[in-house]
Amino acid sequence: MICPVTQDLILAARMLRDGKLVAFPTETVYGLGANARDENAVARVFAAKQRPYFDPLIVHFAELAQLKQAVRTFPSELDRLAQEYWPGPLTLVLPKSDWIPDLVTSGLDTVAVRIPGDDRARELIRSADLPIAAPSANRFGCISPTTAQHVVDQLGDDIELVLDGGPCRIGVESTVLQWTDEGPVLLRFGGLPVEEIEAIIGPVRTHTNHAAASSTSPPAGPGMLSKHYAPRTRLTIVDEIPASPPRRSGLMTWREVDSVTRQGFVIVETLSEQGDLVEATANFYAALRRLDAQALDEIYAARFPDKGLGRALNDRLQRAAVRE
Ligand code: AMP
Ligand code: MG
Repeated sequence: MICPVTQDLILAARMLRDGKLVAFPTETVYGLGANARDENAVARVFAAKQRPYFDPLIVHFAELAQLKQAVRTFPSELDRLAQEYWPGPLTLVLPKSDWIPDLVTSGLDTVAVRIPGDDRARELIRSADLPIAAPSANRFGCISPTTAQHVVDQLGDDIELVLDGGPCRIGVESTVLQWTDEGPVLLRFGGLPVEEIEAIIGPVRTHTNHAAASSTSPPAGPGMLSKHYAPRTRLTIVDEIPASPPRRSGLMTWREVDSVTRQGFVIVETLSEQGDLVEATANFYAALRRLDAQALDEIYAARFPDKGLGRALNDRLQRAAVRE
């Protein structure tokens, strides 16, 4: 049975309290929410997504006081960052308290925590009065959802409710930053550009190299899977858009291209006419889905500028382009 789609926040909060799976909008992508304290509900999140148990979930909170219950310590070095960017697309990985079950964190003694920037998401969490574990509401490894319909299409049979809040404002997952004894380490490029983080806490090491990992065995670090966020269609990243592409090809570009360039393609998805990376990010996953629905032989994707949000998008493209 396909689950209902609603705008009724109180109903959604009540269902979360009852241990049900409720997808809800955040400013990044739609999350598949469950009471993080309820191991049955959390187990069903992994099952619905077909997500391996070695890939830990991010826990979402409405406010900092509630979030601090989930961690053993909150390093004072991160105070300013949290103040500036929470609520927002920033996830911090910190030492975990016993309040959060091991299942949520795949047995790690750290937990990933975030306060989402979408008002409705925080209102939902506040009404439920629970920490909410919420990975993206899609099947493992597939394209992340940025509308309620995307969620219904993939998970409609396996979850209890979708809270509809329209398209996501940012459109790419949160930036994940771990605090270690050796300082801050970036685990995933995302909606908060790393340059903005560095402006507040200084240089950040990156540990997002996923080349050695496969999508079926545990990666070097949690979540660092080579193939991820992927369409079914073959995807190739290009610096130069091919003039006469072979076969039935589609093109994804982040800025306008001329009509001659367009000619060789069955479909062209222009993420932003003006080449605005914020707009391009918001359109990214939906455009990838439309391309994937065209039964193309190949999707060509123009590489994004390697700065700001472009780094998160290049990271997603790289994982989408991995051939198994
Ligand atoms: P998502 O799939 O958007 O829910 O993001 C979850 C990702 O956050 C995982 O795949 C990891 O990359 C990262 N993550 C979550 N918890 C941890 C943790 N305890 N340590 C390191 N990374 C984590
Ligand atoms: Mg995900």
